[in-house]
Amino acid sequence: MNAEIICVGSELLLGNVVNTDARDVSVVLSELGIDVYRHTVVGDNPNRLLAALREASERADIIITTGGLGPTCDDLTKKTVADFFSLPLYFDKEAEKRLLETIGNRHGGKMTENNLAQCWLPETCTPFYNTCGTAPGCGFRAGGKTVLILPGPPKELNAMLKLSGVPYLREVAGSPIYSRKIHIYGLGESFVEHLLRDKMESLRNPTLAPYARESEVWLRVSAKAPTASEADALMAPVIEDIKETLGDYIYGIDCDSIEKTVLGLLTEKGMTFSAAESCTGGLIAKRFTDLPGASAAFKGGVTVYTNEVKINIVGVPPEVIEENGVVSAPVAYELAKRIRVLLGSDFGIGVTGLAGPDGDGVNEVGTVFVGFATKDETVVRKLTLGKRADRSLIRSVAASCAFDLLRRSLTGLPLESEKKFETGLFPKTDKA
Ligand code: ATP
Ligand code: MG
Repeated sequence: MNAEIICVGSELLLGNVVNTDARDVSVVLSELGIDVYRHTVVGDNPNRLLAALREASERADIIITTGGLGPTCDDLTKKTVADFFSLPLYFDKEAEKRLLETIGNRHGGKMTENNLAQCWLPETCTPFYNTCGTAPGCGFRAGGKTVLILPGPPKELNAMLKLSGVPYLREVAGSPIYSRKIHIYGLGESFVEHLLRDKMESLRNPTLAPYARESEVWLRVSAKAPTASEADALMAPVIEDIKETLGDYIYGIDCDSIEKTVLGLLTEKGMTFSAAESCTGGLIAKRFTDLPGASAAFKGGVTVYTNEVKINIVGVPPEVIEENGVVSAPVAYELAKRIRVLLGSDFGIGVTGLAGPDGDGVNEVGTVFVGFATKDETVVRKLTLGKRADRSLIRSVAASCAFDLLRRSLTGLPLESEKKFETGLFPKTDKA
């Protein structure tokens, strides 16, 4: 099964709005194991939308449109798509009832002609009622194609996709597709692929595919089976096999992020951490405090951007900086050890490094030292990310490294994996 996505909206072509809908739909389709072959954007113009539908229907099994469903006159998607597939529109009573309820709540019950226009849907469709807005979407089969019509506003799109689109697609896909996501930190995508290439090529059901994320790699295992438990049974041995190969580089399965994993572990154990961050500039604190419930596990942090702050606030002895340079393992060591005590937490993180683009004449850009302190020991991991990594990637990998050290410590794993690989983008990490 392959799909194409057509996003409707002149604002997308003018550059006023970033096309996040295409990305969000693609992510969901890839989770279902449906290949997306093309994204198209057309303005609010029925003829150009018709042309895009004509082209897409020559190639794709599934066509998904976003946008142009609302009550304004430039919202023409439903009528145009229905015409293209020769389906008349019918007035959906349930949509009207729901519209009355929401409008009643929002606008004092005033309902105009164009509001009601939203309730017309292509005959034979399965309506997708909108839980975040007013315009319903729908799914239908016609001319051998599966078509989904979804709203433009990202909040509405994502809610409808999850609640109605995914179940609809699972049903039409015949044998539904289920997938699991393996999260890996510390190995580059090309290296993961290199390790698992044979499996990726030989596996048919389930299939296996890597996805590079900013500072980590995901492996998606997708199985076709009539039920979730049968799919799980197909996937389990493959997941076990991957665990065997990648060992403790895997930090979770179907979890949200490495920081979320760490939050779960810290909360479970009633423990806390704090951070003194130089080159990450507060990114560790930011990513962690993005999570609800972070206050129970994060004491706080200091952005130790200058030597002055490293010395005067955190208490790094000036001679440690003088003797070793500020981007050095001993400085990361002192930062981690001292911030832990200073803020009275169970763990301390200290980061110093060169995020670039300028070097310091000693270390290469992309050199970062991440210190990690417990009450018993302090270690430093050195990251050498190389010139290929930009400022944002360097910071992101360094922050993830801090979370990786925390999750290793909290789960009783060695802080340095015993599996030694020569890796791609995130090369060797040494105890320094
Ligand atoms: P409405 O009922 O709000 O009119 P609609 O389904 O008709 O919803 P549009 O009118 O096409 O959707 O878009 C409404 C708003 O949603 C746009 O102004 C834009 O901010 C956002 N939007 C639309 N399409 C996309 C897209 N592809 N990616 C991100 N945002 C989008
Ligand atoms: Mg609109």
